[in-house]
Amino acid sequence: MENTNSGFNTKLIHAGDAHDQWGSAVTPIYQTSTFAFKNAKHGADCFAGKEKGFIYTRIGNPTIEALEKKVAILENGFGGIALASGMAAVTAVYMTLLSKDSHILSTSAVYGPSRSVLETHFMKFGVECTFVDTSNIENIEKNIRPNTKLLYIETPGNPTISITDIAACAEIAHKHGIPVVVDNTFCSPYLQQPLNLGADIVLHSITKFINGHADVVGGVIIAKDSEMYAKLRKTMVYMGGNMDPHQAYLVVRGVKTLSIRIDRAQENAIKIADYLEAHPKVATVMYPGLKSHPQYELGLKQMKGPGAMISFELKGGFEAGEILMDNVKIAMLAVSLGGIETLIQHPASMTHAGMGKEGRLAASITDGLVRYSVGIENVEDLIQDLDQALAKI
Ligand SMILES: *Cc1c(COP(=O)(O)O)cnc(C)c1O
Repeated sequence: MENTNSGFNTKLIHAGDAHDQWGSAVTPIYQTSTFAFKNAKHGADCFAGKEKGFIYTRIGNPTIEALEKKVAILENGFGGIALASGMAAVTAVYMTLLSKDSHILSTSAVYGPSRSVLETHFMKFGVECTFVDTSNIENIEKNIRPNTKLLYIETPGNPTISITDIAACAEIAHKHGIPVVVDNTFCSPYLQQPLNLGADIVLHSITKFINGHADVVGGVIIAKDSEMYAKLRKTMVYMGGNMDPHQAYLVVRGVKTLSIRIDRAQENAIKIADYLEAHPKVATVMYPGLKSHPQYELGLKQMKGPGAMISFELKGGFEAGEILMDNVKIAMLAVSLGGIETLIQHPASMTHAGMGKEGRLAASITDGLVRYSVGIENVEDLIQDLDQALAKI
């Protein structure tokens, strides 16, 4: 049941699911490392790809495949590849598209480790990288080099919530024969479908909105066409960063409520962003649903809604950030995002502390910046929680 023509919510519930011979309502967990062949010919045919059959779980597994099919259908791609983490997905994409002396052009507000793995590991193999503010489209063409092999964008960016025009990037990159990869973690396929906007590959940290329950770390890559899909799958199979069947089972369960979770969290986020924007201790609020967002119009154009991630700048700087962290009671002081529970973190002292102040400022991450991942609690409680904590500054 592929359901490629059904509505998004129907796909969320049914697409890709594997049902066993007993008629299981949900995809079973095939917690097995290997699969027995019926006979020598069957084994040979599975290896030769002449017969559809599972061989070994690193190569493929019915539970993992159910998740891969579901997410690929949601993103309108040819196929999905599930991996052990979002970073395993990012690294597999780099491994597939970059080689000695190639150049990658990437978003400056990219997820920290997506940048660090280039600078600490890929540069050892001669890969060159440039990080620019991709939300300014003029920065794309002028930073493309003859050896540029990949345009990597994250939108909205992390943690600045800057928005990059996916369709415009794809048009420029394709003119130069360069594939476009979009990290769609902050939106999920419910709010943004980069392949429909011209991207060639989409990836996610499944840990965030797709699973949504803060109980799994995982990643997925979705390729638009069969050729790219085959290349990416080969990288995953050789590198061995596959997802585990039990992990996949939890994500298949978690993703089914993606749209209703996001609808509620987004409804809350819109009210919280309005509250914060009017607060005297808050200098600026970065949220695509606010008219004050520099790319408000672009957000409306390429995203179905403004999402559940808010960043805001406290007038009191670093110290104010620490006071807020120590005084919120409902919002959990934790990294990660996209779960049903509200999380708060302070990039300057936490996720982006390692960049140093200069590096942070170059990526517009100021000392008073706070990142807030809105959950599905009662919005009055969340606002009250922020209100009492802001009063302590
Ligand atoms: C969390 C995250 C990642 C990395 O994913 P992990 O599952 O933690 O490995 C990559 N990109 C973005 C935007 C993220 O938020």
